[in-house]
Amino acid sequence: MSSGTEWALQLQLSGRVQGIGFRPAIHRRATRLGLGGWVANNTSGVILELHGSRPQLEVFLKQLLRDPPTHSRMDQVQPGWRQIPCGKRPFRIVPSQPSPGSSALIAPDLALCRACLAELLDPSNRRFGYPFISCAQCGPRYSLLQTLPFERDNTSFSAFPPCPTCAAEYANPEDRRFHAQTISCPACGPSLSWNQRIADYGEGLQAATQLLRAGGILALQGVGGFQLLADPTHGQALARLRSRKGRPEKPLALLSSRVALEEICRPSEPELELWQSPLAPIVLMRRSPDAGVDARVAGSSPWLGVMRPASGLQQLLLEHVDSPLVCTSANRSGEPIAADVNADEALLASLADGVLSHGLRIVNRIDDSVMRWAAGAPLVLRLGRGLAPLALPTQAQPCSAPVQLAVGAQVKGAFALQLKTHRVLSPDLGDLSSRCGAEHFESTSRTWMRRHAVTPRWIVSDRHRSYSSSAYAEHLSQSLPARRLQVQHHQAHLLAVMAEHGLSGAQCGLAWDGSGLGDDGTIWGGEALELEGDGYRRVATLRSFPLPGGERALREPRRAALGMLLEAYGPNWRARLQPLETPWWSAFPEADRALLEQSLVCGVNRHRCSSMGRLFDGFAALLGVQQTCSFEAQAAMALEGLATQALERGEASPTYPLPLEWSAAEGIWVWNWAPLLEAVLNGLGEHISPAALSLAFHQSLAQAVVNLAQSQGVDQLLLAGGCFQNKLLLERCVLGLQQVGVRALWCQQLPCNDASLPIGQLLAVPQI
Ligand SMILES: [Zn+2]
Ligand SMILES: [Zn+2]
Repeated sequence: MSSGTEWALQLQLSGRVQGIGFRPAIHRRATRLGLGGWVANNTSGVILELHGSRPQLEVFLKQLLRDPPTHSRMDQVQPGWRQIPCGKRPFRIVPSQPSPGSSALIAPDLALCRACLAELLDPSNRRFGYPFISCAQCGPRYSLLQTLPFERDNTSFSAFPPCPTCAAEYANPEDRRFHAQTISCPACGPSLSWNQRIADYGEGLQAATQLLRAGGILALQGVGGFQLLADPTHGQALARLRSRKGRPEKPLALLSSRVALEEICRPSEPELELWQSPLAPIVLMRRSPDAGVDARVAGSSPWLGVMRPASGLQQLLLEHVDSPLVCTSANRSGEPIAADVNADEALLASLADGVLSHGLRIVNRIDDSVMRWAAGAPLVLRLGRGLAPLALPTQAQPCSAPVQLAVGAQVKGAFALQLKTHRVLSPDLGDLSSRCGAEHFESTSRTWMRRHAVTPRWIVSDRHRSYSSSAYAEHLSQSLPARRLQVQHHQAHLLAVMAEHGLSGAQCGLAWDGSGLGDDGTIWGGEALELEGDGYRRVATLRSFPLPGGERALREPRRAALGMLLEAYGPNWRARLQPLETPWWSAFPEADRALLEQSLVCGVNRHRCSSMGRLFDGFAALLGVQQTCSFEAQAAMALEGLATQALERGEASPTYPLPLEWSAAEGIWVWNWAPLLEAVLNGLGEHISPAALSLAFHQSLAQAVVNLAQSQGVDQLLLAGGCFQNKLLLERCVLGLQQVGVRALWCQQLPCNDASLPIGQLLAVPQI
């Protein structure tokens, strides 16, 4: 370096670099090293230029790559070097700069950090008891973002100009809230309202607490939408909550403090870690025998879903009430969550007895995430607050194709955008079967396209034409115009696993779920596929069986049982059951029984399926566990619960045969469940408990998975589809495969259910 010159290092950083205190962290590091220059947000991420000696700049770069700022994820760091005239200036954070495209990633909402939590509860702090406390490291992000980049003016906080004290903290490099976009305090931040009337923070919380103690239902404005809260020991309150929501049985989650958690659950170490993480998800944990919650919270399930407070307001409410609360989305079952106290006034009034709201507008609705710990890794059951938007870098599978939009399936609506460097997955947007569900889905996807300033050239959907998402894809592709691609459901499931793990080349995997349209027009869901290139080959399938009543069988597991009996025993199925005491057949209403008998005479083969979800249903019904369902996967969850209890009680439980047979006619392996059915019916005859038989059922399935892997001679097997939300099944499969030297891979960041399909669908687009 000649005298009078120094080096400038320029970096354009993409990835998750906004809304997480990235620029302040860069400022601190640069200042510490005595470097000059500047840093700014732009629509691609963060751009910075550092001035100093070459060795110092090298040190900075090395540190940045080795130890990136908390919560950040940088992709594609390409340093640019040039020599410049010397000129020492302090390092500065400068206003946002325009840049082509909007590939910056949006940070998810993060729960309060330790430092903010301590301040919230410290009477000497000026933010003591202030519900909207946050800092550069924590607080809402996605839920209040209007447009990129993540700057205060582009969020709901634009309505709350900072007071002089907050402005001074914002400008002070020594302060924790240096350049924190969500900085605010009691003097300048949002106010609380109790039943739409502005209330003092203390008054609002007091009124809400009184309502809850009196057995009322509270609607509370949470991070991504309103939540309904109630006392989990108050049976009548829970009964009203369930009837108003139209949610008769599906378990309800709890909001709890760390201390109270130990009284209601027995969390394992990793479960506790997940629970305490900044994601603050609802975590499924084993309930304590004396949890002291009403049976209306989660029925007889051995698990409870519990979350920690995700916002200052939830934290303060919990401090006031001083005991766990039921906490569930404020919506009618199957519809989007309420998020606007004015627009959703009638809905909130019909659901709750009191409304505690505030002026910080929720821009992007998002539900709480639901997770569990299984097979040594996190398992995402619902991708929501804290996790979404979820971005997978495309480096492993470089994408030269133009922007693409994939719209997923139906019951767990979600979409994904292929951007320049990432595939970005939306939160789980719920069931698209209702009109408002489908509208919410469409408007959210349009908002995302606008925000990232992209127009998709490809629109990808499931092959099922009657899904709302497929209709939307068709309509959108015509109006843009864009090219269309339809991807088989189970292929997309396995492609999602490949996307998460950065796999390419031929792969073999299982896709086990409730239903997806197969190539032959029947419902698939117990499949083993071999993926290669753009296509796939069906390697194995579950022996198919009729589903009497088609769609009705989704709500009535007892119908799946009838289909299985018919398939296995033909017209003599009744004789096979004769000596057994199963409450199954008598669970049908008399009129249905007569109709079913009639239809059996003329054949019920109209609807056939090879669905693993329906196989769970059929066994659950025959074991007397579940005859009808009010929510998806209810029967499978009940079977898993029973089997887990049998396992923990150490009940003896055999593994029954579920042979893999070669079908020469179809050129495919078939898992024949008929011997398993025969064995389970024998077990019932011998008065083996339904719990032990449930466990045997799970063990037999896991063995069937191992058999498949061995028949194919693979050393790696992908596991995909909603059936693997079942912890017992997943763990048994992973262990069984491990014992024969086969590595199992499954989704650990993406949900393993249909909400991950859009990512798999994107992977199916032909590379140009
Ligand atoms: Zn904080
Ligand atoms: Zn202030």
